[in-house]
Amino acid sequence: MARIVMKFGGTSVADIERIRKVAERVKAQADQGDEVAVAVSAMAGETDRLVAKVDQVGQLYDLREYDVVVSSGEQVSVGLLAIALQDLGVAARSWLGWQIPVRTDSAHGSARIEQIEIDEIVRRFAEGQVAVVAGFQGLDPQDRITTLGRGGSDTSAVALAAALGADRCDIYTDVDGVYTSDPRIVTRARKLERVTYEEMLEMASQGAKVLQTRSVEMAMKHRVRVQVRSSFQDGPGTLVVDEDEIVEQAVVSGIAYSRDEAKITLLKVPDRPGVAAKIFGPLADAAINVDMIVQNVSPEGDQTDLTFTVGKADLDRAVQVIKEKCTDLGYADILADANVVKVSVIGVGMRSHAGVAQQMFNALADKGINIQVISTSEIKVSVLIAEDYTELALRSLHTAYGLDAD
Ligand code: ASP
Ligand code: MG
Repeated sequence: MARIVMKFGGTSVADIERIRKVAERVKAQADQGDEVAVAVSAMAGETDRLVAKVDQVGQLYDLREYDVVVSSGEQVSVGLLAIALQDLGVAARSWLGWQIPVRTDSAHGSARIEQIEIDEIVRRFAEGQVAVVAGFQGLDPQDRITTLGRGGSDTSAVALAAALGADRCDIYTDVDGVYTSDPRIVTRARKLERVTYEEMLEMASQGAKVLQTRSVEMAMKHRVRVQVRSSFQDGPGTLVVDEDEIVEQAVVSGIAYSRDEAKITLLKVPDRPGVAAKIFGPLADAAINVDMIVQNVSPEGDQTDLTFTVGKADLDRAVQVIKEKCTDLGYADILADANVVKVSVIGVGMRSHAGVAQQMFNALADKGINIQVISTSEIKVSVLIAEDYTELALRSLHTAYGLDAD
């Protein structure tokens, strides 16, 4: 007997027919004698509709009320799934975040889970009951309803698995696993049998939208074995696990990309102490995240160009902040470019292999692709290139690192 958390996303519960299919999968798991908790998202498109309604009422709204509204999609889907399970003769009941409760902090709209009371759910496991838990929602210290940020049901599921000490957390979704690159672009992308937490974390934050980044952080911290698998077809998915569970580690496991980058260049910035602080301070105050940064040495020792990236949605605001707050800085001009993409090569094997970055630069040079900005971490090399070259870059790198399917 195992203890399993199953998570179904919005597309898996998009209509009643699919909810019945989910119920059958849950029943099959429970029929094996396993203890089963199911975390569920709102039906596809529902949360978007709720967010749009809130936007319609007011621009500067109370985030506590936003959470009351947008958390309601999950209330519908858990109720429907519990009924569908009961129809199949499975003892099941729904649990809303506040009923468990799932305790979070008070950061409405993107709250963090702090603790989950599992005693009652575990007691009912012993009676053969399946727990159908609303994802995405929790309760703050003031007993107000919170939500965990878009895509937050992944995190609900992993947190539940951690609290329950589950043997596995199966994330059922519309793809059948984690791929070496985006299969819609790289047709020879392969499904990974296993991937490490760290690689998955980089892939999630570099734009591979299979799992919410926070859920991977949570899984890594609590060593929850996560499996990403398809809700529409059988067969194993991808296991996200600890590094020592991977026997033959490839040097590079995946090529990710993010179109959500925009580049800002400040020309002829004075080269003296305190300048970076003067530029990035106001951006941080405006809650604008800066990702990649490059600064050159100045040819004459007094002026240099500075390039950095921000999220595409923040580009105009970032330029405005700099124009307004950096008036005494004395730069020559500011250039903005939204037609860029960040391409990242990811693999824990890089820690012990030299030359991975060089291979990337060669492959891009062979195709005549110019690299605008480079950044690296222990297990990742990222480059910023013109957006028009996204497909070409991904395919060439995929081949260069020997990742292509036969
Ligand atoms: N329903 C929420 C959303 O659409 C949470 C989730 O699906 O994970 O963001
Ligand atoms: Mg999702």
